[in-house]
Amino acid sequence: MRAEIVSIGTELLMGETVDTNSTYLATELAKLGVDLRWVTKVGDDPGRLFEALERAWTRSDVTLTSGGLGPTSDDLTRESIAQVFGEEMTVQDEMLKHLRGLFAGRGTPMPETNVKQATLIPSAEAIPNPIGTAPGWWAEKNGHVIVAMPGPPREIQRMWSYEVAPRLKAMNPDVAIVTRTLKTFGISEGGLDEMLTPLFKSENPLLGIYSKQDGIHLRAIATAPTEDEARRLIVPMEREIRRAVGDDAIWGEDDDTPESMTAAVLGQRGLTLGIMESFTGGLLASNLAEVEGSRGFLLGSAVVYRDELLEGHGVDAGLIEEFGPVHERVAEDMARAARKLFDADVGLAVTGIANSPGPDSQGQRAGVAIGTTWVGFATKDGVGSIPGSYPSSRLRIRSRAVTHALLGLIRFLSD
Ligand code: ATP
Ligand code: MG
Repeated sequence: MRAEIVSIGTELLMGETVDTNSTYLATELAKLGVDLRWVTKVGDDPGRLFEALERAWTRSDVTLTSGGLGPTSDDLTRESIAQVFGEEMTVQDEMLKHLRGLFAGRGTPMPETNVKQATLIPSAEAIPNPIGTAPGWWAEKNGHVIVAMPGPPREIQRMWSYEVAPRLKAMNPDVAIVTRTLKTFGISEGGLDEMLTPLFKSENPLLGIYSKQDGIHLRAIATAPTEDEARRLIVPMEREIRRAVGDDAIWGEDDDTPESMTAAVLGQRGLTLGIMESFTGGLLASNLAEVEGSRGFLLGSAVVYRDELLEGHGVDAGLIEEFGPVHERVAEDMARAARKLFDADVGLAVTGIANSPGPDSQGQRAGVAIGTTWVGFATKDGVGSIPGSYPSSRLRIRSRAVTHALLGLIRFLSD
């Protein structure tokens, strides 16, 4: 089944509203195994809207539209579908009664412009929208469907999951899609590509490689008549990936995040965590605080942004003097100090340089290159550290360092 999305609204073309509806629908179509071919954004202009919808309806089995179902004169989706189908819009008594009831319930008179929300064409039926005034349209002619849905994300998402997705699934019954994502860290995209060359030739499952903030993801998508069969197709590919890449380089699967994995590892062992972070400015603690159950393991974080304050937080001044603040020995000592400060089982520390290179700093500060970090770990049994280097913009360096620190911690604890 070939599908197409048309997102409607001039505000989308002005960059005022980000078109999240098409992203949402694209993700959902992929889950249903529907082959999305095109996504179009078009303004509230009758001529261009007609053109976009006619082309979509002609070339695609299913066209999903978002927006333009409101009562105002620039909401033109219904009119344009009617024009594409060459049909007349007529007011439906039942729909009008329902609409008037909605307004009566709110205690306001219904503006006459809203009447058009109670119209249909002969080839369309209404799709209920219990959380808004605009019903959707399921319009079908010559075996091609246009599904018109409202723009507000809450409304389109509800209408999609309760009304539209089940109908499309019924039209496309013999496809189940199963995806499996393996998340790696520490091997480059090119390196993985080389290791997995034969697997990239497979069509089903199809293997994709994606560079993300938390490392490189490998995603296998299998298509089969049933979910069980699709899952069975993925098993040998997953085994082969794990063999080729090595389990050490794979830190998580599917919905795992470095934060959720850290929480799981600490939680399983009943360990508490104390943090000392400098240039990440609290991001490490903030990210961990997002995880459900973080109160169970996260005791606290000392954000020591200025190097000269490290000593006051229990870090050995002699080490800072000898090596400078961005050094493995200092990172390890910060982790040890964090453990002590919060009376925690595990100490974690990050130190590094994220300043934007100034004209006379030549990409360096205190003799260390911008983007250099050290992550330190401490337990009752000893300390450890790992280096990092991310020549990139400020926020990215900070969040990369956080990811790196958490993945490093997971590995440190499992060794
Ligand atoms: P309404 O009855 O609220 O006017 P509508 O179906 O006419 O609904 P629009 O007027 O196109 O929809 O959009 C209403 C609001 O929904 C917009 O102001 C915007 O906040 C949001 N919206 C519209 N299209 C999108 C989109 N593609 N992605 C995300 N949000 C959107
Ligand atoms: Mg509108």
